[in-house]
Amino acid sequence: MNSIEIGTAVSKSAGLAKGFLKVGELPDGQAMRIPVVIMRGAKPGPTLWLHGCVHGNEYCGTFAIHELTRSLKPAELKGMVVALPVLNVTAFEKNQRMSPFELYGGGDLNRCFPGNPTGPLTQQMAHAIYGLLKKHANYLVDMHTAMTEDVRWALFANLPGDVGKKGEGIARAFGYRSTLPAPPDILAGSAMMTAAKDGIPSFIIEAGGKGPAFSDELVRDTAERLRNVMRHLGMLAGKVTNYGKQWHFSNFAWVHSIKGGLFQRSVKCGDVVKKGAVVGHYFDLHGRPSGEAHAPEPGIVLAIHPGPVMASGETLVHIGLDPREV
Ligand SMILES: [Zn+2]
Repeated sequence: MNSIEIGTAVSKSAGLAKGFLKVGELPDGQAMRIPVVIMRGAKPGPTLWLHGCVHGNEYCGTFAIHELTRSLKPAELKGMVVALPVLNVTAFEKNQRMSPFELYGGGDLNRCFPGNPTGPLTQQMAHAIYGLLKKHANYLVDMHTAMTEDVRWALFANLPGDVGKKGEGIARAFGYRSTLPAPPDILAGSAMMTAAKDGIPSFIIEAGGKGPAFSDELVRDTAERLRNVMRHLGMLAGKVTNYGKQWHFSNFAWVHSIKGGLFQRSVKCGDVVKKGAVVGHYFDLHGRPSGEAHAPEPGIVLAIHPGPVMASGETLVHIGLDPREV
């Protein structure tokens, strides 16, 4: 077998290899390094690249990646899983979306790919990661969460030709009902869209909420759906589970609040809402109702602000537009 090196993780034979990849340097001069797990099968096959915590406080993906990699046995695996469970490690440590060391550059790692070796910190991190991803990955699955525990949706890069078709195959094998075939003009700078433009079928999972807002059951379910993706790709034996029809939507709309106050949502993720539907209620600090929040577009609720408090300008609701069953 040829040698695969991702930072200090070196895989020369079937089995597990672990190490770290340097993505920058800390103020004390030490390496800023992220964990790498390579699980190599005994037989040849594709390389599935998984990563999590692109946004530092989206921990469910890290746990799901660990749940998956712990369940894999080299003798039963064709090809290889390369897993980077914590990409934005300094944001991860602070339980926040972006790195505390990113001061002026914007810092959303999911807008910084393919990166720049002399750009702001997050661009440098993206550059350190992306060259290896592009070199080794045949498929990319990028793990995210949104606001609350009940978030369950996914998107694949719907580029013309094979890359879009293979992306849809992954999305169907993963099987979330709410799925966006993402047009090429959205999420520029995401690992997903950047990799797809380089010919790598790519998929983003949004499962669970920020910080601790996810359950063991969700972690197990996500890992099982990833195993189903691997069966679909021929990396694991066994029948591919058919999760049934999906709702594909045309795009999504982020809606920001124009009010502040105490907030209680009145819809769940996955609910279908009409234009103008009430999605939550505001209360003032004296306890009086102070208004309703409405859906400005019809569609499927992908994410909704968890409350209990909100300032104006926060993300109120995220809606999948024009859902159609396919
Ligand atoms: Zn995210």
